[in-house]
Amino acid sequence: MSRFFSEKYKNLTPYTPGEQPQEGGFVKLNTNESPFPPSPKAAAALSSAEINKLRLYPDPESRLIRRALAANLSLDIENIFVGNGSDEVLAFIFAAFFDGEREVCFPEISYGFYPVYCELYGIKTNTIPLKEDYSIDIEAFVRTDKSVVLANPNSPTGMAVPGADIEKLLKKRERLVIVDEAYIDFGGESAVELVKSYDNLIVVQTLSKSRSLAGGRLGYAVACPELIADLFNIKYSFNSYNVNRLTEIVAAAAVEDKDYFEYTRREIIKNRERTVKWLESRGFDVLPSAANFIFTKSGQINGAALYQRLRAKGILVRHFNKPRLSDFVRISIGSDSDTDKLLKALGEIISTIEDDL
Ligand SMILES: *Cc1c(COP(=O)(O)O)cnc(C)c1O
Repeated sequence: MSRFFSEKYKNLTPYTPGEQPQEGGFVKLNTNESPFPPSPKAAAALSSAEINKLRLYPDPESRLIRRALAANLSLDIENIFVGNGSDEVLAFIFAAFFDGEREVCFPEISYGFYPVYCELYGIKTNTIPLKEDYSIDIEAFVRTDKSVVLANPNSPTGMAVPGADIEKLLKKRERLVIVDEAYIDFGGESAVELVKSYDNLIVVQTLSKSRSLAGGRLGYAVACPELIADLFNIKYSFNSYNVNRLTEIVAAAAVEDKDYFEYTRREIIKNRERTVKWLESRGFDVLPSAANFIFTKSGQINGAALYQRLRAKGILVRHFNKPRLSDFVRISIGSDSDTDKLLKALGEIISTIEDDL
């Protein structure tokens, strides 16, 4: 740390992203990316003419992509805010709506960025433990008067909260409810419809996972127009051009290609079910996943060792060295051939353990 770094950040521990190895050859199942390329219509939408237009700033209102997203959700453009990934959208939300007085709470085990934003902005971190079965303790959230941030499905568990439970939270109109739906297309029940009836709801979604555009960086918030206007206020105080021209074009084409979206998400769900069945038949515990990843533990090998053994076989998964999580690994669901390689490697690892017994 340099001697110039602000005192106010002395306790800041940044979020640790999953490994992005620069050497190839890994089956990469550690950061919940899609194994499929983006819609072929995305590549077709780009041209050297569009590259040449990079001399111009993008539309600060990002109307092309906001219109495409609004049409896809049957809402208006005034209901949509876009950012450089949903991480940026979440950062703007924490900056806009929470502070020393306006408190927020979230599950103790959830997306690792939420406590980082609290630290960055000087917001008190209030957390509520998961229940014994790793589900979110909705009743405890309903009881507080604080605003609430939930990932639905949650990460790294993959477990979903029913839509009716989200509505229970919304009934306390004085609080804001943020639902981070990064994985909603793989099984959960979206709260987007509720935006029409609740002016205290923000739903955050992303094109990173179910639209295969993690590298394009496009996330968005869906809410009533007043909340969206507040987010624009923050964005224009930070970066007017947060979504670049090429991403806007590619993202709009991807959102419009509904057939490709349906095909790729069904493939992932199919491979998730195949993986879960295989693991359960070999004695692994798998939390019920509505996401494009599973969270699983074996009674025979701890999470850190399983992570290491898979890595040695060229398969990258994610291990969290934290209380209640360290027995598990989180495995992103890949293509058919990724799944074949994963299950083959796991089979070999289990049989060497059994030989040693
Ligand atoms: C991946 C993820 C995000 C961030 O996605 P980007 O849009 O790529 O920034 C946000 N929330 C959760 C829960 C995630 O898993």
